[in-house]
Amino acid sequence: MTRITVAKGDGIGPEIMDATLAIIKAAGAKIEIDEIEVGEKVYLAGNTSGIAKESWDIIRRNKIFLKAPITTPQGGGYKSLNVTTRKFLGLYANIRPCISLHPFVKTKHPVMDVVIVRENEEDLYAGIEHQQTDEVVQCLKLISRPGCEKIVRYAFEYAKQYGRKKVTCFTKDNIMKQTDGLFHQVFDEIAKEYPEIENEHWIIDIGAAKMADTPEAFDVIVMPNLYGDVLSDVAAQIAGSVGLAGSANIGEQCAMFEAIHGSAPRRAGQNMANPSGLLQGAIMMLNHIGQTDVAEKVQNAWLKTIEDGIHTYDIYKEETSKKKVGTKEFADAVIANLGKKPMQLKAVTYAKNATLNLKKYSRKTPAQKELVGVDLFVHWSGTSADELAALIRPVQLPDVTLSMITNRGIKVWPEGFEETFCTDHWRCRFKPKDSRLLTKKDIIQLLQRTTDANIDIIKTENLYHFDGKAAYSLGQGQ
Ligand code: NAD
Repeated sequence: MTRITVAKGDGIGPEIMDATLAIIKAAGAKIEIDEIEVGEKVYLAGNTSGIAKESWDIIRRNKIFLKAPITTPQGGGYKSLNVTTRKFLGLYANIRPCISLHPFVKTKHPVMDVVIVRENEEDLYAGIEHQQTDEVVQCLKLISRPGCEKIVRYAFEYAKQYGRKKVTCFTKDNIMKQTDGLFHQVFDEIAKEYPEIENEHWIIDIGAAKMADTPEAFDVIVMPNLYGDVLSDVAAQIAGSVGLAGSANIGEQCAMFEAIHGSAPRRAGQNMANPSGLLQGAIMMLNHIGQTDVAEKVQNAWLKTIEDGIHTYDIYKEETSKKKVGTKEFADAVIANLGKKPMQLKAVTYAKNATLNLKKYSRKTPAQKELVGVDLFVHWSGTSADELAALIRPVQLPDVTLSMITNRGIKVWPEGFEETFCTDHWRCRFKPKDSRLLTKKDIIQLLQRTTDANIDIIKTENLYHFDGKAAYSLGQGQ
């Protein structure tokens, strides 16, 4: 018996949750339920995060959370409950299976069966942003080795458990050699632990184009947060089944399962909504807690019901559907099909009582780290890099000198192009002479001397070698 937390949410939430729970209970799910209130009422009662403290206690105690969609009231500084839950509970993996149900649900891609595994905690979504000059703002893209290892391992373990043949990685590491480079490198390392699963890497732009055009070429796709955010919606949409897709948010301790659609307030209380998206979330939950036999039974009964043409209004089509039903009647039809398998759609088989075997991250031996230079970022509203170099060079140290200036990453000194457009945000790179290492004291001196000369330093970045290898980007054109 597993104790889970359930939130019925807003709009169509309560109806689709009742339908979902009725189906999984009828299939023999061994669950006990604690219900909590989240969403609109909680927001409007003055709690800007949409959830009360006591509810957090229940979620944290039970660790498994099945959540119906909620309505986020417009305006008023209300924070997204999904983002808060994901961050507080460390739900690092977002899993979204996108399968087409041709010919029963309309789709341009009849044989699509892709699972998007999206890193959920870091990348540009760490939300660390600063305005630095009049003209330039910055968002920090943070990618960590534990973050990469956890998500990539999850993707391979998922592929292994569900009998999938291939894991593909999407990054843009031809441009972001450090951040996306690390993600790709970790992917290559971990792929070696799974020789039975094919692996490949695509640059995200052409990979995304290929996925949108020929999704049948992919199986499991793992990617950093931002790309995953965009492409998981694209994948669900082109499968033709946005209203039918579920999603899992998995952490080391807790996990949350839901439908990908919202609370559809206009359809609320009319016994019209399709409970399939939330049911898909519940099936992922049953698999996650090891009740794979129940998950399998529910999924096959659901596929059979779709195949029987018993459809809610959103997927009902004269040509392919047989009967238009309401939420409750759809649930009854799935229950009546428990124990049956689809004939035309592919029936699922899940490994019995299995849960993923996810190794804990263990920290590597620290590399030898050497400080080899420093970038001072300057707010300066002039336009000529030669002029800026003339201002800066008098403050350099006898053996730590200005080696390069870039503007938005493009080298503009020495030997820049006058055609290069420059903003008021300049990076001045200082390197020690004669291959001596830089010291923190050198940086302090540089800061002191630039400040005395009224040069507006807005931030510094240290340049390191890790185990003798340069771990920073060169200037474009350097
Ligand atoms: P929505 O997903 O609620 O609705 C989009 C369209 O799809 C509507 O026409 C709706 O009737 C239809 N639809 C959605 N789910 C359906 C279902 N199960 N059965 C039949 N038809 C369905 O998106 P929206 O209208 O942009 O947002 C409504 C509210 O939901 C907003 O307050 C939004 O903030 C919230 N929302 C919540 C979540 C969540 O809790 N995870 C996700 C997205 C949106």
